[in-house]
Amino acid sequence: KFSYQHRLGIGSGNPTGKIPLGLKRKGLRIVVTGGAGFVGSHLVDRLIARGDSVIVVDNFFTGRKENVMHHFGNPNFELIRHDVVEPLLLEVDQIYHLACPASPVHYKFNPTNVVGTLNMLGLAKRVGARFLLTSTSEVYGDPLQHPQKETYWGNVNPIGVRSCYDEGKRTAETLTMDYHRGAGVEVRIARIFNTYGPRMCIDDGRVVSNFVAQALRKEPLTVYGDGKQTRSFQYVSDLVEGLMRLMEGEHVGPFNLGNPGEFTMLELAEVVQETIDPNARIEFRPNTEDDPHKRKPDITRAKELLGWEPKVSLRKGLPLMVSNFRQRIFGDHKEGSS
Ligand code: NAD
Ligand code: UDP
Ligand code: UDP
Repeated sequence: KFSYQHRLGIGSGNPTGKIPLGLKRKGLRIVVTGGAGFVGSHLVDRLIARGDSVIVVDNFFTGRKENVMHHFGNPNFELIRHDVVEPLLLEVDQIYHLACPASPVHYKFNPTNVVGTLNMLGLAKRVGARFLLTSTSEVYGDPLQHPQKETYWGNVNPIGVRSCYDEGKRTAETLTMDYHRGAGVEVRIARIFNTYGPRMCIDDGRVVSNFVAQALRKEPLTVYGDGKQTRSFQYVSDLVEGLMRLMEGEHVGPFNLGNPGEFTMLELAEVVQETIDPNARIEFRPNTEDDPHKRKPDITRAKELLGWEPKVSLRKGLPLMVSNFRQRIFGDHKEGSS
């Protein structure tokens, strides 16, 4: 078995695994599971630009080849169609584990979070790779603490309609810490709050993509419940920066990665109206069961230990997503260009 340090050739005198300053960094081999998805494909762009070799493992459940097509032909890029619920043999230095049916429409009845995470941890253990789990703010459930700190254990219904996702990610965190403590695997845990941006799935039912697509198609914006529930929306480039700092840093986490700007769904609808169509109508719909009332990250820990905080506000980020959605919905295609 190899340790992460041994794998990077930086000797055992450096327990943090950080590459010493002044030493030229060799290109790493990195697996991104779920790399053909929304967040994964933006991460892949940054890793490739940094000079690393990237293997994307994706079963295209919600991801799309178009998101990574611009890397085809690059010798530093490989794409494998594979379901992480099945074992996988590879030789790599780092694993960013993003594969997950991530939206309410897709995540029911799927073992990816548990079995997929177990397999990727098994892989990390076998080859001495560092493993990063993309967990979620949903581990806090319908939170009784506001804003949420990483020390909060959450308020999750174990048998509700969302439990497969919430509890799946909570189990994934448990497995990750067990492999860390029990098998010495180097791990990192990110708890991601609602994120939006170009390449987001158009029809997966998340609120930002719904509102933007509806406004562009001249359909009413569907606000669930009274629209007074809150969320905090993070632009994807901020998230990717946070994930990379977490992977390269020396702290296991968990770390909240999110934008502390908090909006009600009615306020979000207003920002979408301002950005796309001031005449867009709002239509109220019954809310889904167990919908969290409030959500806002406390990012003190990430600020202090990773030197990270988001830079792109909702009003700055939304137009960047809108132009990508406009191209995809109305056809004047330039896939993967943003
Ligand atoms: P996404 O649906 O765009 O990406 C997920 C990717 O995983 C897709 O490409 C999908 O095809 C792939 N996938 C799903 N099941 C798989 C399997 N069994 N084997 C191989 N590939 C599989 O979603 P995203 O928003 O990019 O999310 C990425 C990660 O970030 C997920 O783990 C998600 O839980 C987490 N996250 C995202 C948000 C957000 O707001 N976007 C919030 C919290 C957590
Ligand atoms: N695994 C994998 N790739 C590897 C090593 C392991 O997919 O390179 C899978 C393996 O099939 C198993 C899981 O990861 O289902 C956990 O592996 P581990 O060695 O930790 O557990 P064990 O196989 O001993 O139960
Ligand atoms: N929502 C909404 N209209 C929609 C889709 C979602 O008002 O068309 C609400 C939903 O009830 C929730 C919030 O927006 O309160 C965020 O939902 P999403 O599914 O995007 O993320 P999550 O609930 O996982 O935070």
